[in-house]
Amino acid sequence: MSNSSPSALAYVPFVSVDNMMKLVHAIGIETFMAELAEYVEADFKRWDLFDKTPRVASHSAEGVIELMPTSDGEVYGFKYVNGHPKNTKDGLQTVTAFGLLADVGTGYPVLLSEMTILTALRTAATSAMAARHLAPKGARTMAMIGNGAQSEFQTLAMKAIIGLKTVRLYDIDPAATAKCAANLAGQGIEVVSCTSAEEAMQGAQIITTCTADKQCATILTDNMIGSGVHINAIGGDCPGKTELHRDILLRSDIFVEFPPQTRIEGEIQQLPEDHNVTELWQVITGAAAGRQSQAQITLFDSVGFAIEDFSALRYVRDKLKDTGLYEQLDMLADPDDPRDLFGMVLRAG
Ligand code: NAD
Repeated sequence: MSNSSPSALAYVPFVSVDNMMKLVHAIGIETFMAELAEYVEADFKRWDLFDKTPRVASHSAEGVIELMPTSDGEVYGFKYVNGHPKNTKDGLQTVTAFGLLADVGTGYPVLLSEMTILTALRTAATSAMAARHLAPKGARTMAMIGNGAQSEFQTLAMKAIIGLKTVRLYDIDPAATAKCAANLAGQGIEVVSCTSAEEAMQGAQIITTCTADKQCATILTDNMIGSGVHINAIGGDCPGKTELHRDILLRSDIFVEFPPQTRIEGEIQQLPEDHNVTELWQVITGAAAGRQSQAQITLFDSVGFAIEDFSALRYVRDKLKDTGLYEQLDMLADPDDPRDLFGMVLRAG
């Protein structure tokens, strides 16, 4: 080991966007999301072990930048993520992200990864995992309202994990629907393009809302929702940014990730603080009931929680061992004498 060439420990495996795409192709997108859902479910089963905090949000007029940390006592993880609904007008993503895992024992990072693609995969895997517990038995048709960046992932995770057969698409922008339909062609799912949210919901047992608008929108009104459906509400994930009319919430049994965060960011920001909700991890461990009758309206008020990102990074880290789809980043200073940081800099001159 010399002052200028760091030891193996000082290198941090980095998964670029390019390598993430290669990893998705190497594994297969549906297998990736099905296996990732197992990782999320395994981590939800050990919920008590984790440090949990609502994410740290920095709001601005156009969007939000958030940090999402957690730790299971052995591994620490965080994600940096933004949400800027106006970005697509300028050819930019609404949501971009990257994240890191670190060893709690040394504090040294052990993985740095792009998470824009990984967030879409983990959000979809979590939606389908929730639907497995909450959607009516035999649900085969989903309305997909909002056909942007997340929409194909949401659809294919439902196909892989609960056997979805048909997706009915609607977006206020017909170009988004056309893009989504084209991407899903040949993926083994029937795709129906619709011209209104009402039309998209015809015959659907699952309704996914995944729109981006920095306001309290009403993508769905109460009269549109029949008994027995499962609503997978993805897009309302910030204060002042919701998708469902309040009356739908009052008729639904509501399932959430981490209540202190969802009360700030989710659809339930429209309800009093003490409105009853069920934590999804409790449904997964069997401590709380999921769907109890065919007539019940279940609502997964998804905002995205740090443990899901932790699970996703853990999954990617395990997969890298077999695929080698990463670069080594020279990210940590590694002087021969740990106390001689200055000497290392001096000698590099
Ligand atoms: P995107 O900007 O790529 O797509 C959003 C789509 O919604 C656009 O095509 C837009 O035309 C459409 N839309 C807007 N208003 C609509 C309306 N009234 N009816 C129908 N369609 C409408 O965004 P994205 O990356 O797909 O993300 C969608 C939403 O999901 C965002 O709000 C994002 O913050 C949220 N999100 C949530 C999670 C989570 O874990 N819950 C994770 C990722 C993204």
